[in-house]
Amino acid sequence: MSEPRLTPRVSAFSGVSKREFLEICGKGICAVALASLIPKGTGAQTQKKGLVKTKLSPYFTPLSGGDVRCDLCPRSCRVSKGKRGFCRVRENRDGKYYSLVYGNPCAIHLDPIEKKPLFHVLPATTSFSLATAGCNLQCKFCQNWEISQASPEDLYNYDVPPELVIGKAKEMGARSVAYTYVEPMIFYEYMTDIGELAKRAGLLNVCHSNGFINPEPLRNLCRVMDAANIDLKGFTDDFYRDVCSGELQPVLETLKTYKREKVHLEITNLVIPTKNDDLSTLKEMCVWIQKELGAETPLHFSRFYPLFKLKGLPPTPVSTLEKARSIAQSAGLEYVYIGNVPGHEGENTFCPKCKKMVIKRAGYMVGEVNLKEGKCKFCGKPIPGIWT
Ligand code: SF4
Repeated sequence: MSEPRLTPRVSAFSGVSKREFLEICGKGICAVALASLIPKGTGAQTQKKGLVKTKLSPYFTPLSGGDVRCDLCPRSCRVSKGKRGFCRVRENRDGKYYSLVYGNPCAIHLDPIEKKPLFHVLPATTSFSLATAGCNLQCKFCQNWEISQASPEDLYNYDVPPELVIGKAKEMGARSVAYTYVEPMIFYEYMTDIGELAKRAGLLNVCHSNGFINPEPLRNLCRVMDAANIDLKGFTDDFYRDVCSGELQPVLETLKTYKREKVHLEITNLVIPTKNDDLSTLKEMCVWIQKELGAETPLHFSRFYPLFKLKGLPPTPVSTLEKARSIAQSAGLEYVYIGNVPGHEGENTFCPKCKKMVIKRAGYMVGEVNLKEGKCKFCGKPIPGIWT
């Protein structure tokens, strides 16, 4: 995932108020751990090693000999009795397929929505953000590999049913629930149940995803999802196969589906030196986005830092990100950002018509917002997004 690395648990913030939280954010510490969000006495404020909670998957096909085929993502795992799929969080129990991460997240934080990153959704609000163990890809650059490449038994998990997620999100003043940090599609059942409740409670649902999901579960998810930031990790089959253990084409289909289903869509491309930073390939990617998804699709070029299996590579030169941004703008994309470079001009939103700054940002902090009813305050051009 290219969302910034999870902040370690900060138990010193236990009992923190919303005002204190915002002050903490202002000092650059942008996450409050669940220990401070779940009240004492609920039995949920402490993590339990290996907590597993199950739910029958709606997306599997029984096969001969008690095997099943998982129909949730394009990997289409064939799984024998007692075994698990590639993502480690789905298990064949007597010929039925179960999620093992329904209501047992390993990470919950209250984050600025800018951290997802979603730059065109309710700026300067907080998002109740959660993740479980597991992932359906194995990216060599994963920033949260300690949880994405783990089984639920390996981790300390919380006991947080969907109702409690909504209650705490509301209590803490979050405007959205974010499914994030690892690939959220692998906790699909938990996400969609929370999503239904969130809608009824007036909260937005947002996700940061790798887009590696099958069309039918995706269309079903779009009923509750308001906004998605999808990682377009590269633009070649080789990159997806060699660096992510995935495939490009299903991700492109996912992007088109989100667009068609009118879910607000932003894209993140983590630019990794020598792996996916070829400028002509980046140009192809930008032209594809412009043609298939539209010039108004926000695109975030994010800076890589050496982690996990790519520790030997240097951080992305800022000049490479600037070239990528310039290429995207030349391809006609109107909202192109540079991420993981706090203070860079590319963090701000500019009106494509009058060129004035409509949202100023520094890191996850939002400064002036020059929008009026979703339009540029200076020239009246509508800016795409969810603003109220
Ligand atoms: S969701 Fe998991 S079990 Fe299902 S196909 Fe994908 S990797 Fe395999």
